[in-house]
Amino acid sequence: YRPIALNELIHLRHTYPGNQSKLVFGNTRVEFERKYNKINNFRLISITHIKELRELKRTKNSLYIGAGVTFTRLKSQLIQWNNDDSFCQALLDQMKYFASTQIRNVASVGGNIITAAPDSDINPILEAADAILELHRADNEKVRQIHLCDFFLGNSRVSIADNEILVAIHIPFENSSNKYFLRSYKQARRRDDSKGIVSAAFKVELEKIDSIDNQWKIVSAWFSFGGMASKTISAINTQQQLIGLLWTKQTINQTYDMLIKEMPLNELSPGGQYQYRQTLMQSFLFKFYSYVSNELRQSLIDSIDISCRRGVSHGQQTIPERPVTQKIVGSSLSHRSAYLHTTGEAIYIDDMLSHVNTLYAALILSTQANARIKHIDIEQASKVPGFVSFVNYTDVPGSNQLNGMLSDEEVFVSSIALCVGAVIGLVVCESEHAAKLASNLVKVEYDLLLPRIFSIDDAIIHQSYFGDEISLGKGDIDQIFLKAEHILEDTLYIGGQE
Ligand code: FAD
Repeated sequence: YRPIALNELIHLRHTYPGNQSKLVFGNTRVEFERKYNKINNFRLISITHIKELRELKRTKNSLYIGAGVTFTRLKSQLIQWNNDDSFCQALLDQMKYFASTQIRNVASVGGNIITAAPDSDINPILEAADAILELHRADNEKVRQIHLCDFFLGNSRVSIADNEILVAIHIPFENSSNKYFLRSYKQARRRDDSKGIVSAAFKVELEKIDSIDNQWKIVSAWFSFGGMASKTISAINTQQQLIGLLWTKQTINQTYDMLIKEMPLNELSPGGQYQYRQTLMQSFLFKFYSYVSNELRQSLIDSIDISCRRGVSHGQQTIPERPVTQKIVGSSLSHRSAYLHTTGEAIYIDDMLSHVNTLYAALILSTQANARIKHIDIEQASKVPGFVSFVNYTDVPGSNQLNGMLSDEEVFVSSIALCVGAVIGLVVCESEHAAKLASNLVKVEYDLLLPRIFSIDDAIIHQSYFGDEISLGKGDIDQIFLKAEHILEDTLYIGGQE
């Protein structure tokens, strides 16, 4: 389905609540779940065409971010809005290292919130900014508002009814004369396409109490973290204890311990690297303290200005001049496909139109090694709408043998699957989606055989050799070794085949 109005969407979701349908915007999470967690959704509702979900505006009291705003759109709007607004700046900072262009172009803010990943980089900022979610549903025609901090229940679990739709996120503006600071930090494994090992957002509201000594009192604090628990988490106790204290290095020194106490991790905590994660959390707090103190022009005891700005990186290639007589050697040639790749005009299989009546196949691969196939059950698969046929070795006309170097591999396994991934058969359907769906429903029963060989060592133990090895030789190796002055013996393992 692709509804084009919010009331249509609400009605559809009400008709097909819970698992009976799946909302999809950018599909970056839904497809991941289909592919890796084998969660197949029979009824998809695309929500990309709903005006209210795509809106992005500044109202009198808040920022309105439609749940279907992509990160690319959000970023360009934030750049326009920025004007030293600390929320915009915190989000922009995080977006420098957020996913990749392709993902940011389609992934939505709402999709990130509903996914409720414990390591989301965006949710800590939204939580620190006290974001309020606006949810709509049909049965009571009511709009429900909930603070983001109350929305996350656990890993991938949120407080949403079976027929509810997240329509927008409201970021309230600050309305007192106090000073507010909000910053975000992230440490990831890579620059692109990598969520934070820990990501954090810190917000404080400070009131000036002494102009001569430049002293500031903490009125409120909000410290939120990704990667420190099974959900985005705020350090509620620490936040409470900070209220009324002075913004000083001493206060921050106490806060390091409070955070560790409030978010205890140990060697058994999911995600591992627990000491590193705790250190990251504390380091981020130190960065935040330094930033705020710099802004307040407070002197920083034992700290330096850590803000570091790097210019845009650039590169240059110098191609040396060649003598006129030398046409080919040393000349700079572009890759054959360079023009098409760099202009985006290269045509890949998925860009080509398929022919009328094209059928689609999906492979059934063995999940076991050295296993006799006992039974293949295609009953569930054959019920998928658009299912056409199941093909296996019995359908191969002529030889079922692949004519590789050793001719020891079959096109489709006829009896014993030698390795995980051996091709058992194909399901053929009218659409790619149906083929993928049906292939996941084919049930294969195996008899596991012995020995099961997974390494060279296993093979040696079980005397399992290829047999007629092809060997190339020159000279008398044994004689040479007898005369060698030094012999160094060791073993080298190489994972790849090549
Ligand atoms: P979809 O996949 O379309 O939907 C996700 C879920 O939300 C589904 O359950 C769907 O039913 C539900 N849903 C969507 N919209 C609504 C709505 N309006 N109301 C109710 N339910 C709804 N995240 C980070 O924080 N940091 C990163 O650096 C990062 N890097 C990534 C890199 C890659 C390669 C990928 C694939 C993801 C990455 N992510 C990262 C996560 C990414 O931001 C989320 O997957 C994305 O925001 C989800 O949005 P979507 O529109 O694609 O959601």
